[in-house]
Amino acid sequence: MSRFVDAHCHVSSGDELHGELDVEGPTLRCVMSNNGFDWERLKTVGDAGRLRRGFGVHPWYCHLYSLGETDKRSHYESVLEWKDDDAFESLLERLPEPVPMEEYISREFDPSKVDVVGEIGLDRMFRLPESGYYVHSKRQAPLSRVKVKMAHQMAVFQRFCRLARESRKPVSIHDVRCHGVLFETCVREILPCEEVRVCLHSYTGSPQTLTECWLRRFPEDRLFLSVSKYINFRTEDVGEQLLKLVPPRCILTETDFPVDIEPEEDLQDQLEYTCRQLARVLRLGELDEVKALIYDNYQRFVAS
Ligand SMILES: [Zn+2]
Repeated sequence: MSRFVDAHCHVSSGDELHGELDVEGPTLRCVMSNNGFDWERLKTVGDAGRLRRGFGVHPWYCHLYSLGETDKRSHYESVLEWKDDDAFESLLERLPEPVPMEEYISREFDPSKVDVVGEIGLDRMFRLPESGYYVHSKRQAPLSRVKVKMAHQMAVFQRFCRLARESRKPVSIHDVRCHGVLFETCVREILPCEEVRVCLHSYTGSPQTLTECWLRRFPEDRLFLSVSKYINFRTEDVGEQLLKLVPPRCILTETDFPVDIEPEEDLQDQLEYTCRQLARVLRLGELDEVKALIYDNYQRFVAS
């Protein structure tokens, strides 16, 4: 019997909520890192067992990284956009010293410890929480009106595309309302490097972007869509419409949840629900058939 696959999930990075990271559990997991905080936890899993590690900077954390020589104030002034100066000043007090990006990558990126470059991407909707950056917590800080400039998000995203190219690692990509520009960036930065495979996680672009852009330009064996219950199957119809467009060999399953704090049972439920929907839409019949398909796809996605 095949295992469930969680091709895109996380580990918590807050101070107050930390669970155990199960490296030999029943589910095959590709755990992303979004920043230096969760990477610190993920990299200390000595023998990662069945777990695969992602190394990246998520667009929600890209403002914490600087791309050139700078001081704290000039950095945040140059990468953030705001209308209300008080909101900016109070964020500036809370935000940490920026981390020089090149230093971070050269210190932390060890190709033998990293399986995937991710989570990386672009997010036009993102606003900073009043605490400066998002952490897993029972008390979420309210969102401010301060945003990260798209130019900075793009520069960070491109830097990680280059890392994927140079290290020949697959990428796991987040895209919110940047569908066209993100696709064009991937065509420019990733498509020419034949060894790099792309996973679009919880895809929310249009059917046209998928069929006329992604599936037309990227060979099927280099393109994956990992499907979640809470985004892609928020209704059965939405999920079904998407899955009908995707060749079965390109489909993966995911939760996108922090797997150290979410109960194992809930994680399994999410994956099982998605697999049952896949069985229905692809007319595969048995759950085991779907699991075997996703397992095979996953092995191709993470193959080194
Ligand atoms: Zn994610």
